[in-house]
Amino acid sequence: MLAPNKTTLTQFLIEERRRHPAASGELNALILEVALACKAIAKAVAHGALAGMLGEAGSTNSQGDAQRRLDVVANQIFVRGTEWGGSLAGMVSEELEAPYVIPARYPKGKYLLVFDPLDGSSNVDVNVAVGSIFSILHAARPEEEARVEDFLQPGTRQVCAGYAIYGPATMLVLTVGTGVHGFTLDPQLAEFILTHPRLGIPEQTSEFAINASNSRFWQPAVKRYVDECLAGRSGPRGKDFNMRWIASLVAEAHRILMRGGMFMYPRDNRDPGRPGRLRLLYEANPIALIVEQAGGAATTGYRRVLEVPPAELHQRTGFMFGARAEIERVEHYHRMYNEREYDAPLFSPRGLFRASAEA
Ligand code: MN
Ligand code: MN
Repeated sequence: MLAPNKTTLTQFLIEERRRHPAASGELNALILEVALACKAIAKAVAHGALAGMLGEAGSTNSQGDAQRRLDVVANQIFVRGTEWGGSLAGMVSEELEAPYVIPARYPKGKYLLVFDPLDGSSNVDVNVAVGSIFSILHAARPEEEARVEDFLQPGTRQVCAGYAIYGPATMLVLTVGTGVHGFTLDPQLAEFILTHPRLGIPEQTSEFAINASNSRFWQPAVKRYVDECLAGRSGPRGKDFNMRWIASLVAEAHRILMRGGMFMYPRDNRDPGRPGRLRLLYEANPIALIVEQAGGAATTGYRRVLEVPPAELHQRTGFMFGARAEIERVEHYHRMYNEREYDAPLFSPRGLFRASAEA
């Protein structure tokens, strides 16, 4: 039985709704459907090779990424788990080119669901944490089939954002606009239990995360920011920094919510036509809302992520988030170096990150 002081996700949502009488029961029902989908994905992830879940699916998704078996399975679990409930007018998934049409046999509702069913899926085969990310928006035309333009809302309009992380423990972290709360899956009860209420991201940090193998493509602002971190105690920041890189957005976001830090996947110069790597609607926006609700900040480098007006479903963006003071610093550098080249000492021929290995 539950200890008397333990709160389940269901109880948490009902109590939140009592405090906000305008909130709808439909939203709670939808969040619980998503939570059930996440439990089913956790089970598929946990069985791994035993269930034949590892490896490539032999197909590609809407953006040409090779799909893993679990990408396809997780997408089906999300769709099947939420399409029937009557709360949705449509959904958008990383794995589907066009919005998913709610089958005619089910009623349509007043919300839109956008999701990345399995984030960090290249980590699955090496048994490193992966996750799911979701965002709930109001449908402009409730109970009617959602069109592409209905999904193109800035992140400020999100009603709920969350992620599940399938790590050593499965957790669900979400916000309905009243702070960020973390729930841990009790495997015996198969219930999410509130274990991390009111998560907060410290304003300062000495830990940052970036894929340094892209450093030759970085823009001057990012080069300067990282250089100054790497220079440590004797550099302009006057302290030593640690670097982390898991290559799974959910895992990076979760670490930052648990102990602070700063994450960067900036727009770079590798392919000038591509405005970054991560997707705005179902990766950057939900994580940005969670981070802001936890007292942190999230930027493209040039503006607040949540205010970017989306132009297409699978739009990519530069994305940096975490400790507020660090985000303000990197935004300041973007404004400074918008047009000027930065001659970064650590990237010069004699620097630490010199291109050739010669002495
Ligand atoms: Mn992803
Ligand atoms: Mn994915």
